[in-house]
Amino acid sequence: MIPERFEYFAPRSLKEAIELLARNADAKLLGGGMSLIPALKHRLAAASALIDLGRVPNLEGVSERRGKLTIGARTTHRALAFPGELDDVHVIRETAGAIGDVQVRNRGTIGGSLVHADPAADWPAAFLALDGEAFVVGPKSERTIPAAAFFTGMLASAVRHDEVLTEVRLSVERKRAGTAYAKLRQPASGFAIVGVAAQVTLDGKGRIERAALGVTGVNPVPFRAAALEQRLVGQTPDLATLRSLCARVEEADPMEDLHASAAYRAHLVGIFAMRALIAASARAAA
Ligand SMILES: Cc1cc2nc3c(=O)[nH]c(=O)nc-3n(C[C@H](O)[C@H](O)[C@H](O)COP(=O)(O)OP(=O)(O)OC[C@H]3O[C@@H](n4cnc5c(N)ncnc54)[C@H](O)[C@@H]3O)c2cc1C
Repeated sequence: MIPERFEYFAPRSLKEAIELLARNADAKLLGGGMSLIPALKHRLAAASALIDLGRVPNLEGVSERRGKLTIGARTTHRALAFPGELDDVHVIRETAGAIGDVQVRNRGTIGGSLVHADPAADWPAAFLALDGEAFVVGPKSERTIPAAAFFTGMLASAVRHDEVLTEVRLSVERKRAGTAYAKLRQPASGFAIVGVAAQVTLDGKGRIERAALGVTGVNPVPFRAAALEQRLVGQTPDLATLRSLCARVEEADPMEDLHASAAYRAHLVGIFAMRALIAASARAAA
């Protein structure tokens, strides 16, 4: 399909991108284009102008300071899936590497994925489990949006039309801690039918001191499995205990579509929570 006509801008600075956004009420920012371009082509979305972030400096790359990972919003899935400095933060590589196919990973970006807020997208699970923050810059001010307030509905985020998401910040525990992402992928697209990201910290006796679980693909809006997180505290992360504790994920109110019934998703969310917890706990103990 051919999209409606739009103007194309390639700003060279963040300031210029924000000014272009302010001047064009129906404009959209272009990240990797992996969600926006298909939506425009299918005429599920329209834009009078596309403002390409590809030439805006300082929007890509990863840095770490005092347990906070900062990832530029235009960092591609591929860059995050590659072996490198984030090797010990397994949830990042596992999430990035599980997205779509190689073409999608080469172009798609973490920032575009979060703002697009597809209910079957992978990044929202890790963003929630690692107590993420989104740093956004607008025409008059900048602000930080915590993950808990970021996803406001199906395909809707708290980032306003006149704002650019510039950085994603994630809290990574390193002492007696481990992370993991477990996912059932839709075979054709790779999108998550169910995806669970876990960060687990163990105490000196090998019991769970803290668990954080981000869930995607299940509800119209991704969520933290807060009730299960509470039940896990003080427990030994062996298979029998985790299987029994994960049998219920109270916050799950599953969607139903041609890929999975609500009942099947309700069943799967416990299974994939258990798998993510087993892997994260083993890494924490190692
Ligand atoms: C065949 C196929 C398979 C896929 N499989 C998966 C999968 O398995 N898992 C998965 O999670 N995703 C999957 N995707 C989606 C893919 O991950 C996209 O890369 C992602 O959803 C959007 O990122 P993007 O950079 O391409 O954003 P774009 O498509 O460029 O933009 C998406 C939205 O975000 C806005 N936006 C982009 N960047 C910013 C920014 N910095 N600040 C503010 N707003 C911004 C845009 O205006 C637009 O509204 C798939 C896509 C395709 C085409």
